[in-house]
Parts: sequence; C-alpha cells; structure tokens
Amino acid sequence: ILNLTKKMIEISNLLSKVDQNDSLKLPSIVVVGSQSSGKSSVLEAIVGKQFLPKGDNMVTRRPIELTLVNDPENNLETAEFTDLKMDKFTNFDEVSKILLELNLAVPASTAVSNDPIRLTIRSPRAPDLTLIDLPGYIQVQSDDQPRELKQKIRELCMKYLEPPNIILAISPADVDLANSSALRAAKLVDPLGERTLGVITKMDLVGAQRGRDVLRNNRYPLKMGYVGVVSKVPAKSSALFLTKRETNLSKDLQANENAYFFGEQNEKYFYNATVGTKVLKKKLMKILEKSMSASLKPTHQAIQQELEDASYKFKVEFNDRMLTPETYLASNLDAVKVGVKDLSTKFGRHEIRSLLRCELDQKVLDLLALRYWNKPLALDGKAPTSYSEPILEDLQNASDTDLYWHRKLDLTTSSLTKLGVGRLSTSLITNALLDEINDITMNTSLQKHPLAQEIVMKSAMSVLNSRYYSTADQVENCIKPYKYEIDLEDREWKVAREHTIRLLGEEIRQSSEAYKALKDEVGGRKLKNVVSYIDKYMGNNHDETNIAPHEESLQFSKKLLLKGREAMFLQDRISLLQLRLTAIKSNGCATKENKYKCPEIFLNSVVDKLTQTAILFLNVELLSDFYYNFPRDLDQKLSLGALGKETIEKIAKEDPKVKRHIELQQRKELLEEAMTKIEHIIALKNSGVHFK
Ligand code: GDP
Repeated sequence: ILNLTKKMIEISNLLSKVDQNDSLKLPSIVVVGSQSSGKSSVLEAIVGKQFLPKGDNMVTRRPIELTLVNDPENNLETAEFTDLKMDKFTNFDEVSKILLELNLAVPASTAVSNDPIRLTIRSPRAPDLTLIDLPGYIQVQSDDQPRELKQKIRELCMKYLEPPNIILAISPADVDLANSSALRAAKLVDPLGERTLGVITKMDLVGAQRGRDVLRNNRYPLKMGYVGVVSKVPAKSSALFLTKRETNLSKDLQANENAYFFGEQNEKYFYNATVGTKVLKKKLMKILEKSMSASLKPTHQAIQQELEDASYKFKVEFNDRMLTPETYLASNLDAVKVGVKDLSTKFGRHEIRSLLRCELDQKVLDLLALRYWNKPLALDGKAPTSYSEPILEDLQNASDTDLYWHRKLDLTTSSLTKLGVGRLSTSLITNALLDEINDITMNTSLQKHPLAQEIVMKSAMSVLNSRYYSTADQVENCIKPYKYEIDLEDREWKVAREHTIRLLGEEIRQSSEAYKALKDEVGGRKLKNVVSYIDKYMGNNHDETNIAPHEESLQFSKKLLLKGREAMFLQDRISLLQLRLTAIKSNGCATKENKYKCPEIFLNSVVDKLTQTAILFLNVELLSDFYYNFPRDLDQKLSLGALGKETIEKIAKEDPKVKRHIELQQRKELLEEAMTKIEHIIALKNSGVHFK
C-alpha cells in the first residue's frame, strides 16, 4: 500500500527547490482563525508537540509552511528549518524560540512578510500533511492599522487561500458562528464551502447539547463538515510540560478529549459525531490525499512544461553541456596547474639570476653614488669650502700606497656583502613568483572569481613562506666568506669590466633620456635660462623656499625651479658617468691589480659572486620546492574536503554566466527527478495499486 500524500510531499519538496512558481505548487492545508480561537492549540494537537511561540501579543508575521512527515523509523520528533543552515532540532523549546525570532525579525511597521518560514517536522506519530499557518489575518481586520497594511495582509493571505489549497477554519464553540472571522474569510474565497473544513474548538466550554448543535452543519453548511475538538492541554500535564516536554502530548490530549466526549455524561450526545483530534487528523489526511490525487495530472503537466522549458534553454544557451560547481572549479584548477608547469620551464635558474643581478647592480650603483660619485657637498650638505678629502678626479692619479682609496673600497664592499643578501634575494624571488602566479590566475576564468583567487594566492604564499626563512638563512650563510675576503681571477675581472662598461653605458643612456624628456617638457631655452639662474643666484642652496627674491626669479615658478634642479642633477650625473666610463675603459682599469682605482668593476665582480652563490640555494630550496609543492597544496586547499560543497558552489557562482549555467542545470535535474517520481506514482495508480 502506498501513501500518496507522502510521495506527493516529497515531490513538493523537490519543486520548492526549483522556484516559487505557483503552477508547481501542490495542495496544502491553510489554517485560519482569529486570536485565541485555539488555532495554535489545534496545530500543536495535530503535530503532537508544543512548538509555537506563546505570548499575549504574539502575532504571526510570516506564514509558517509546516511539512509533517510521518517517520515510523524514527522514535524522536525532529524539526528542521528548510532555509536555515542549522542542525535538526529535537528540543522543541528551541524551535519555538527560533520561530519567535524569525517572526520578530519582521518589523511591526511592516506588519507581515511574504517570505514564509519553512519548517519540517518528522515524527513517528504525526500524519503526512502540509499545513500553512497564516499571519494574523483576521484579528488585524478589526485593528486600527493603516489601510495599506490591511490590504497587504489580505493579499498575502488570499494567495494562500486560493485553490487547490484546503482551508481549515477554526472557530471557538463559545462564540456564535455568525461572528466567526475564520468562516467569514473562508466564505470570501470558497463561497460554496467546497474546500473548507470547519473546526470547532473549546467544545468543553459550552454544554454538550449546544456543542452538538453547532456540529450539525446546518447553519453554515460546509461540504467537508465540522469537527469538534478539545485541544486544551489538561492542567495536570500542563505542569508536567514545563519540566518534561517529551511527555506525550497526543496521548494526554486524547485522553482528555475522550473523557469529555465519551465520558458517561456526554457520550449520548457525541457517539456518532465527528469529534476529537484523532478524527480531525484522519479527515485532514483523507482530504489532502484526495486533493493531491486530483492535482496529480495538472501537476504532471506543469512539471512537464517547466521541464521542457528548462531543457530547451539549457540546450540553446549551454549546448547541453553538463557543469557542476565541482567540475567547474576542477577545470580551472587544472588551468592554473598547467600555467604553473609552463612557468617552471620559463622561470628557472637563469631568470632568477638576472633578476637578482639586476637588483644587486642597482644596489651597487646606489653605493657608488653614495661613496664615490656624489660631490662631497651632497653627502654632508655643506658648502665645498670646508672639505679636505680627495675628490673623485684625484682617483686616477692616486698612488698605490694611498690608503684612503683602499679603505674606501673595503668599506663599500663590505656595505654590499653585509646588505642582507639572504633576505633580499629570497624576497625578490618570492615576490616575483607571487606576481607570476597572480598573472597565471588572472589568465584563467578564475579572474571572475575573487574568492578562488584569494585561495590560490594564499596557497602560493603559504608554500613560499614555509621556505622563506631557511632559504634566506642558507643564502646568507653561504655568502659569508665574501664578507671577509674576495679573491678574483683575471678572467673574472675581465668579465666584470665588460659588464660594468655595459652598465655605465646604460645608465648614461637612461640619464640622457630623462634629460631629454625634461627638455622637451619645459622647452630647451627656458630650461637653460632657469639653470643659469639657479647657478648664478642660488648656488648650492637647495632650499627653494629660502631664496632671496631676485627680480629675475619672478619669471620662474617654484615648479620650474625644481625642474631646473633636476636638469642640473642629470647633467652632473651624465658627465660624471662619462668620466667614470672613460676611466674604466682606460688601461688603468685593465687588470685587477688596480682594483681600488676601479671600484665599479670590483663591486661588479662581487655582485657576480654573490649572485652565483645565492641562486644555487634559491633554485633548489625555493624555486624547485615551490614548483613541486604548490600544485599539491592547491589541490588540497581547493578540494571538496577543505572548502565544502557550499563554498565551491559560491565560488562557481561568482561568475554570473556560470551561475546561470549551474542553476539552470540544477533546475533541470530537479524537474527531471520530480518528473520521474510523479510518473512513477501515475503508473502505480493506473496499474490499480491501492494508496493508503
Ligand atoms: P490562538 O491564539 O488562536 O492560537 O489560540 P491558543 O491555541 O493559544 O488558545 C487560546 C486559549 O484558549 C489558550 O489559553 C488555550 O489554552 C485555550 N484553549 C485552546 N483550546 C481549548 C479548548 O479546547 N478548550 C479550552 N477550555 N480552552 C482551550
């Protein structure tokens, strides 16, 4: 025997994931009743659990879509909020608390929200039902709330009260049915009373005779009739509930109801009447089943139509290409790994050598400028009158025994070797690799996925960081001997000399270019004027704000004066570099014996030695290690286990097109699943299987 409602509820759950398309909605039971009519009590009696928030002024502000699933396997009732990422609850006090919070999250000024709270309760005792508890529709009617609000509430409720939904109209026995707002509301949407079931609560509050009369269904006839209930929790067990909620509510209620309806006193009134929560439950199941059965065909059609639509779009837009967040991420990850592999052939020992060489060459130029090339003035900022040190022009004529130049070279060399080459070179390569990885990532589709980019970069950083200090230390250790002594061979000197000639030549070229650009910008004549003005009046006074105002100065803006300074600096630099280049090219610098006269060459050969030594370790410790470990670390950090399904989906959906692709596919798959299920049910039905 099959339970049709149960099967249909499964389908309904699938369809609710597809979207809110009304044509895909299966029938539900909608509960209406004014405040204090006993609505909550009836709902809880059906569920067999107290889970609705109580309070004097507790008004439901969001519809509660309650799915009851009969689960005989499970001994305990569990509750689950479909849209919230929370564990299942077995403590129904918690459920009640969350319902209250969710309701109160809707500001009182808004009154109601269209967004339903979806709650599924599984229980061995509850029937398979879908019930909807509507916001305080009826009680609000008499309130002095603004009209738009009333209108809004009415519209929301009307949507739920439409066919094929069944209306459960709750009216208390102690109020005249003529005044029942639940019946009034039901009548508006179901004037013939075809899909409304009346529930009369608080039967115990009126005499048995009067109660029986109400149930006769002749004053306000409904095709489905009326059921009378006593759903108040008996006082005795009420106290118990406070301490021990697990107490069996259904059992207590039933005992209480039975005592009232079928006790000695009242039995003669109710023996053939539809009374009791148990009867109500059965009736609801029957009604829902019937209406589910009636909606089989239209639902089947609706699903078919939606499915055709989704399949068509999927074909046209995505050529039926399957895509899941996992496969999408995996293919991007592969692209990154291919990029890294490619990088490992393009960025190796040779490249790190030129990177490091370039960096150290620059440091040497800075040191030379600081210790040799700058005019003494620029070093201490004082006028040249007071200095007595030899100037650079003296260098070529210095005698071999002149200790001044020997010491100068030693100091400069040691500045270079004690620069912290270990850290400097490791940072340099680390940053270069990070730049490369960033480029690779930005060249894949991951450019549209900031979250994934971040993970890739973090992975690269963590792999590099794990080697940073040990690499830096090893490099530093191995260059240590050079801090004390540097032996040069003739061949090395020759190579360094050639390199220096190129380097100085390049510096001259760059400085000349900069000078030319300046000239083009300012204008040759103007630049000349301002330079000669500075020369004439300002001398070495670099403080532009401290210039005595000359008449001539009026024609030069401060900005122009700065440009003039820059031009002078470049001119000085070019002539100095040329001077040095001539010296380097001269016979005086042909052999290493004259090294103190040719500091540029000597330092250059030191750079060469430092670079050679450093790249040995950088290559093995940092680079090779990175190429080996980075792809593995990436695999791990971007794995399902590390990220979880949700994050992977979030990453994939960062790209709107991918998002659409995935969603359309998911939609199609859900519809296919729903389709299979509903066709299965139809086939069973046609083959004559009995449904429970
Ligand atoms: P709601 O505001 O419509 O949800 O109504 P409640 O279910 O909270 O019930 C309002 C009050 O009526 C509560 O104090 C209940 O205990 C009481 N009540 C509910 N059902 C019955 C019943 O069948 N008999 C009696 N005597 N009281 C009831």
